Amino acid sequence: MTTRRSFIRQGLLAAGGLMIPSSSFANFILSGKKKVIVIGAGFSGLAAANKLNQRNFDVTVLESQNRIGGRVFSHQMNDNLVVELGAEWVGNSHNRILELCNELKLDLSENQMDTHLLYKGIYSPARQWDFSKNWKLKMESLLENYRHLNDKDKLILDKMDWWRYLVNNGCKDRDLDLRELMDSTDFGESIRKVSANAALSEYVENTGDTQNQMDKKIIGGNTMLAQRLSEKLGKEKILLNHAVTRIEQGDKVKVYCANGKVFEADKVICTLPTFALKNIDWKPGLPENKIEALNELQYARINKHAMLFDNRFWKSENFDMVTDQLPHYFYHATQGQSGSSGVLISYSIGDKAAVIANQNDMTNFKSVQETLQPVFGDVKSHLKQQANYYWGNDQRSHGSYAIYGPGQWFRVRPVLKEPFMHTHFAGEHLADWQGFMEGAIVSGEEAAGEF
Ligand SMILES: Cc1cc2nc3c(=O)[nH]c(=O)nc-3n(C[C@H](O)[C@H](O)[C@H](O)COP(=O)(O)OP(=O)(O)OC[C@H]3O[C@@H](n4cnc5c(N)ncnc54)[C@H](O)[C@@H]3O)c2cc1C
Repeated sequence: MTTRRSFIRQGLLAAGGLMIPSSSFANFILSGKKKVIVIGAGFSGLAAANKLNQRNFDVTVLESQNRIGGRVFSHQMNDNLVVELGAEWVGNSHNRILELCNELKLDLSENQMDTHLLYKGIYSPARQWDFSKNWKLKMESLLENYRHLNDKDKLILDKMDWWRYLVNNGCKDRDLDLRELMDSTDFGESIRKVSANAALSEYVENTGDTQNQMDKKIIGGNTMLAQRLSEKLGKEKILLNHAVTRIEQGDKVKVYCANGKVFEADKVICTLPTFALKNIDWKPGLPENKIEALNELQYARINKHAMLFDNRFWKSENFDMVTDQLPHYFYHATQGQSGSSGVLISYSIGDKAAVIANQNDMTNFKSVQETLQPVFGDVKSHLKQQANYYWGNDQRSHGSYAIYGPGQWFRVRPVLKEPFMHTHFAGEHLADWQGFMEGAIVSGEEAAGEF
């Protein structure tokens, strides 16, 4: 079987995107301890830096913010409760992150959910709703069929959007609405913007003990892993408040920061999301095809509205609920954390997220209150505190994670991945497990093995 991932790996090798150390690279390593600058202290940068450190390179990480972790952004709601405003779940299939947690002595809690549904004003408790029998059978056969597709079939499939593919295969009415609501939660935008191959390759992996890769969370917050990785590396090797503004490449690389500092290195690993990457002044300029690819790739707009309540009126610890309302998707964000108070997050995507982001917390809470009314009555008296983060306006990524639209995965990604002179690229958007912490880590480690 060729999975999306192994297929991509073959494609990259064919395109020369995966670097096999050449003799000049071998000379590079042999001629003493070489200096590498890693740009970005997200999971990708921290993973790359650790790998380089192990390989005895002299590593410095430059990070523009005053914190590490990037799009992993744990937030303390009160003294006891921590929530995630960025990356949330670790999948049971995410082997590398699980391995690192084990190595760095971090425990994970089980976090699978039992999903409720609120659709067209009718509330259906968990396990009392489903897709139609016909559509369920059809979906199973489509996933089975996908397992047997060859590479050429996948390239063709990638040109179609997921919504069109579903419609063409007889998904309609309530089934189609439910797929839109649930799958847009995974991808962060309407399924009309998602490639059919991206969707199928993701859902075909959802077998065995994973619940859509929303299985576990790191106890104490996902940021704990960033902290442990930085301790392993040596915190002195990470320079915060060092926003890279210019990269000059000649015999060596000169990296300029907004604070006036300049660094010289033999190699650079750049782990920035495409928006931040393109804002750097590159000398010489980036190749035309890379600029086009950077301009083409979009990032999904996700808004997280976290609400602390004085009790967990949703009753079951593993509560989550898909709705067809503006607040989109609710989940218990403090599952397994002790105490009687708890946090519900309203997780909205695409245009809905953009609308929510433009309102204040109280206006958004009113819409939450109205949505939850048929299920839990008036919840206002339980509200204690709110926190909101809209990734669509994040200065660095302008979105939560990359969303490869129809026709982009096999065409755009290899171009973005291709090294440019002394600079190699990594980050979630270039990974086989694209959109996940797992992907960020693995792509960072891979880039650190490219020379
Ligand atoms: C809302 C949301 C939900 C998510 N849910 C999940 C989930 O449930 N499970 C999961 O596995 N993943 C999830 N993700 C995805 C996950 O967060 C990312 O895949 C991963 O964190 C990306 O890591 P990275 O290192 O590639 O990029 P980043 O984390 O973005 O790291 C890049 C770093 O570069 C820094 N930087 C930017 N510009 C410059 C500059 N000019 N100079 C120096 N530094 C710079 C940034 O500050 C940042 O620290 C989610 C993300 C979001 C936002």
